[in-house]
Amino acid sequence: MANVTLPDGRIFRVSSGTTAEQIAEQMDAALAKAAVAARVNGKVVDLSTPITNDANVQIITAKDDQGLEIMRHSCAHVMAEAICSVWPTTKLVYGPTVEDGFYYDIDLDEPIRPDDFGRIEQKMQEIVSADKAFIRREMSKAEALAKLAGDRYKVDNINRADSDTISFYSHGDGFEDLCRGPHVPSTGRVGSFKIMSVAGAYWHGDPTQKMLQRVYGTAWATKQQLDDYLQRLDEAKKRDHRVLGKQLDLFSFNEAGPGFAFIHPKGMIVWNEIVNYWRGVHDKYGYQEIKTPLILNEQLWHRSGHWDNYKENMYFTTFDDASYAIKPMNCPGGCLVYRTRQHSYREFPMRVAELGLVHRHEASGVIHGLFRVRQFTQDDAHIFCTPQQIESEVIGVIELTFEIYRTFGFEDFHVELSTKPEKHIGSDEAWDIATRALKGALEHKAIPYKINEGEGAFYGPKIDFHIKDCLKRSWQLGTIQLDFSMPERFGLVYTDADNTEKTPVMIHRAVLGSFERFIGILIEHYAGHLPLWLSPEQARILPISEKTNDYAGIVQTKLKEAGLRCSCDLSDGKIGAKIARAYGEKLPCMLVVGPKEAESNTVNVRLRGIEPNKTMPIEEFLETAKRKIANKEADLAL
Ligand SMILES: [Zn+2]
Ligand SMILES: [Zn+2]
Repeated sequence: MANVTLPDGRIFRVSSGTTAEQIAEQMDAALAKAAVAARVNGKVVDLSTPITNDANVQIITAKDDQGLEIMRHSCAHVMAEAICSVWPTTKLVYGPTVEDGFYYDIDLDEPIRPDDFGRIEQKMQEIVSADKAFIRREMSKAEALAKLAGDRYKVDNINRADSDTISFYSHGDGFEDLCRGPHVPSTGRVGSFKIMSVAGAYWHGDPTQKMLQRVYGTAWATKQQLDDYLQRLDEAKKRDHRVLGKQLDLFSFNEAGPGFAFIHPKGMIVWNEIVNYWRGVHDKYGYQEIKTPLILNEQLWHRSGHWDNYKENMYFTTFDDASYAIKPMNCPGGCLVYRTRQHSYREFPMRVAELGLVHRHEASGVIHGLFRVRQFTQDDAHIFCTPQQIESEVIGVIELTFEIYRTFGFEDFHVELSTKPEKHIGSDEAWDIATRALKGALEHKAIPYKINEGEGAFYGPKIDFHIKDCLKRSWQLGTIQLDFSMPERFGLVYTDADNTEKTPVMIHRAVLGSFERFIGILIEHYAGHLPLWLSPEQARILPISEKTNDYAGIVQTKLKEAGLRCSCDLSDGKIGAKIARAYGEKLPCMLVVGPKEAESNTVNVRLRGIEPNKTMPIEEFLETAKRKIANKEADLAL
């Protein structure tokens, strides 16, 4: 007999060898039906796994992240069977999960085309409807190698396996694939799926190897979830910042500078509004600002360690018989500023910010609109402090970060803490103090966080901030990194209270990350409907006919005096056409003026996406608009 402890503390006594699935059936029939796998003593396993000793058992469904992943991976097997049945010469390579779905790399000479997706899906549906059991079979590595001799891909997979026992999974009759598992109990549980795309991919990402076909799919627990996902993708396509950026005349790219953004006048208004706000908040939080050169001697980059660790992504230039690098990061420049004079513990913490323009060479295949560029402005800062000040400084950075995210309308964020990796510098004691300080700060702010064990930088632990946009897409923006390396490399010191020279703690931090990327995210999050305070043109006055052009001019002067960015549409067109144009430009406020308004000193206010229109005195509109801009309100309603 074995004692099975459930997550709610209930204990079941079962005979040894009872499977997780049988336990689920005893617990709750509905749960058993939705179950995809089980967590036994923390390890995720097939539902068919027998329980032989006392264990903690949790039945997991596709509502659980790992459960969903197992379902998606199982769907990859179903797709593999379907592809093999359509093209029997297919050789299967590798089929992992990815965000929102899965892929399978296959070796097949005939190219699979989007036209073929329908018949693959149909075959998959047949396999799912047949609800065939996933059956696990184990053998030794040697037996597995003998069984698959001649299949270079699978032999390679076996050789890469870290276990001596190799497992195979079959769906009922026939189809079998080498896999570590776990899987859903039967093909009927793979949920709702769709094949999304096919692309070329080299074996092991190695361009000297054969080009394979990578078939991507997505799978969800219910048809509703699949439909919602497809709709989100559709919406994301409509919000593509590259399309909106062009349509709204915010920025462009040119083949003269691939990966380098050209920011247009309207884009610069958005940019400068962000900069002004950013400066104000940093001033409030006690930061100073510096600016350091773009081009610095190559020797400096040897000293900073970038030469050894980052050279491939850097741009270089030569003049006056010396080699220079274009900075990929602002830290070395910040260290040189620090070193221009002596420092005392009394001036700590020193918070020094820099809107630094950095250049990083990205492969041409990965550059993507404003999201991935080769030149960007980082909202960087370096904090120099004592070890005792780390925690309170990190608390300050967290507060400032959240304040900024909220201002831009992002309320949904999560935090990850990455700890000491195997390869690291600095003493265990220093790591301990720093990691405890980071945890202490997060706990002080009662912020839940995920720990990425061993994933910190080699020079110190870090916290990353991720936000979710309105399409539930996650973006990593901010970071706080402790650094035990750079202050020493640059010989930075301060005089402590006991009159001895010590090395300061250096905290690197960024809130928005890259200005370019952040503007891209804002455009997609708001679908181009930027909040009033960020809008390049905040209001447009639309006279009904030329008879009210003069009055429109008076209104415009008043708006301009109040500091609003506005224009008058004095074109010949009908009022409907003027409204449609302003609407297309996604302007927040349209003020329609006709003889009635001119007579009563009023404006007819149309707000983007808000009904009904309202007629009001000019002053009333101005007062509300000014307040909304000053408070950076996202809601337009007057
Ligand atoms: Zn598998
Ligand atoms: Zn830095």
